[in-house]
Amino acid sequence: MEFGYTDEQQMMRELAAKIAGDFGEEYWQRIDEEHCHPREFIDALVASGIVGMAIPEEYGGGGTGLLDLAIAAEALAANGVGMGAAGILVGGPVFGGYLISRHGTEAQKEKYLPGLVKGEVWAGAFTEPDAGSNVTNISTRAELKGDRYVVTGRKMFISHMEESTHIALYVRTSPLDPAHKTRGLSILVGDLPDPHVEARPFKKLGSRFVDTHAVFIDGMEIPKENIIGREGHVLKAMFDVLNPERIVVAALAVGSGLLAIAKAVEFANERVIWGERPISSYQGLQFPLAEAKVMLEAARLKVYEAAWLYDQGSPKCAMATTMAKYAASHGSIYAADRAIQTMGGSGYMCEYGVERLWRDLRLNAIAPVTNEMALNTVAQYDLGMPRSY
Ligand SMILES: Cc1cc2nc3c(=O)[nH]c(=O)nc-3n(C[C@H](O)[C@H](O)[C@H](O)COP(=O)(O)OP(=O)(O)OC[C@H]3O[C@@H](n4cnc5c(N)ncnc54)[C@H](O)[C@@H]3O)c2cc1C
Repeated sequence: MEFGYTDEQQMMRELAAKIAGDFGEEYWQRIDEEHCHPREFIDALVASGIVGMAIPEEYGGGGTGLLDLAIAAEALAANGVGMGAAGILVGGPVFGGYLISRHGTEAQKEKYLPGLVKGEVWAGAFTEPDAGSNVTNISTRAELKGDRYVVTGRKMFISHMEESTHIALYVRTSPLDPAHKTRGLSILVGDLPDPHVEARPFKKLGSRFVDTHAVFIDGMEIPKENIIGREGHVLKAMFDVLNPERIVVAALAVGSGLLAIAKAVEFANERVIWGERPISSYQGLQFPLAEAKVMLEAARLKVYEAAWLYDQGSPKCAMATTMAKYAASHGSIYAADRAIQTMGGSGYMCEYGVERLWRDLRLNAIAPVTNEMALNTVAQYDLGMPRSY
């Protein structure tokens, strides 16, 4: 068992820290206020090779594993980016990259992977209005007519619709069979924009560095050859996308939580209001931040383990990912909340940036999977307790 970073990983952490340092608090505040994509930051990340690092070398990528991507994500977040890299790191290397590199045909790999190395992003459309946490309940229908699938349905809370070149659509190619609920689910890759796809944006609490839409699909035509894997048998491909999504988001959450703690400590070390000692000397402020630090250090280990298991192709990856996702969201939201409290009124004000970290992190208890569903998985599959729903 080895717990240290390799020389390459250490260099990558330094590179990520350098890129993060080029985009300061004011930059991220403007992105948040204007609800716009961090274009300059994404361009820098693409140029650095971080966006394409996990894509196989033969298609122009760096050929590293998910563990390295998670390490880079955490370093970006901890050094000032917070959750701001979530859009590009999920939309590119995960929604497109892992889907295609693990489950695409050779022709699909050649067609799609080089573009993802250059910074193309894909929307990943799982969620539907009536099928939130229960993906097997989706009803978006794809019917094969000649050499094309014709897709009709609704998707909910789909991120990155404005910038994406493609959409990975999770659809039903045959009706729900109550005896085999996951059978009949398929994945199709469509081009964006498309005249048969209408996207209506939401305003939201945080994660404003990426757009999120309600999506209405009415007769979208997708060539038959754009199916990923075998029609109606999608479970493995779906989790080969969902697991790295959760791992990358969890790594960003760990880094963001550490950033919130660092900001709070710096502030508290400076602020003196009683006598001569700074407020950071009060145990009532120290313990919650120290507790958050412990939670995040533990979460980081689980994130790295989950990423490593993914790289090994181990079936244990799913449970480790679930635990990592829960631990990271729990610890980081707590860290950001206590950072606000440590800073008093200043913590509540936008200019210090911790309220934004909290708003962005709050999402992670809901998406990519809710913390309740994560705990359901642990109770049922790890502890062996009966399914509760
Ligand atoms: C900003 C944002 C961006 C998103 N981006 C995307 C995207 O790009 N692509 C995509 O496909 N989806 C996306 N989502 C959707 C996200 O994955 C879902 O919101 C999430 O999976 C939960 O589904 P839901 O919102 O329908 O909640 P529901 O499933 O309706 O859950 C509501 C509440 O009930 C609880 N609950 C549900 N079932 C159980 C149970 N069995 N036991 C205990 N509690 C339960 C949940 O934990 C939750 O607290 C995004 C969501 C947000 C908010």
